[in-house]
Amino acid sequence: MEKHFSKERTLIVIKPDGIQRGLVGEIIGRYEKIGLKMIAMKMLVPTPEHIEEHYTLDPEWRRVTGEKTIASYKAKGEKPPTENPLEVTEKLLKNLKKYISSGPVLAMVWQGAHSVQLGRKLAGGTEPLTSDVGTIRGDYVLDSYAMSDTDNRSIRNLIHASGSIDEAEMEIKHWFEKAELIKHTIFQEKILYDVNLDGILE
Ligand code: ADP
Ligand code: MG
Repeated sequence: MEKHFSKERTLIVIKPDGIQRGLVGEIIGRYEKIGLKMIAMKMLVPTPEHIEEHYTLDPEWRRVTGEKTIASYKAKGEKPPTENPLEVTEKLLKNLKKYISSGPVLAMVWQGAHSVQLGRKLAGGTEPLTSDVGTIRGDYVLDSYAMSDTDNRSIRNLIHASGSIDEAEMEIKHWFEKAELIKHTIFQEKILYDVNLDGILE
């Protein structure tokens, strides 16, 4: 049998700026309120190596991210710093390692139907300036590519959310031991997933 929808898992990491801005409760609240279930959480200061491995778990990440960044320069009518996607990514990665290892982060695993897609939807697009209103990145921070490029740093966008189900599985293994994932039921699952709703009335 296919795994039930309710078993899908995603990795959400509140980055150092999210902790420093006092947004932990707000961010967790968004994921709780949509109906996802937290099954693991820990606070840690990640090493730069841990961050490099995290972003390169997908062997395509360097190429895809480099191409995406070059395309975004061109879309704005600007000249990218280089035409080589891998060179672009090397610089991004260097900045990312500095950003995400700069202080404590909160790593979490959230489980529930469509958790990966919802993790991204509630997070919003990568650049806070253009992320949709109502999303975590869109509502709680003002950073832009213009600022991060000028200062040669990563864009500060509060959280990481896995990009696909495969990515989520690899990332969860990278951040958590199997024993740290706590299998449990929360009562709201009854109303979210129960087919008959026959447990409410006495
Ligand atoms: P997302 O986190 O939205 O999935 P990516 O996987 O493309 O975005 O990139 C990982 C992280 O690297 C982003 O969240 C952001 O902090 C940083 N980043 C990505 N692209 C850029 C860029 N062009 N300039 C500065 N920082 C970037
Ligand atoms: Mg990503």
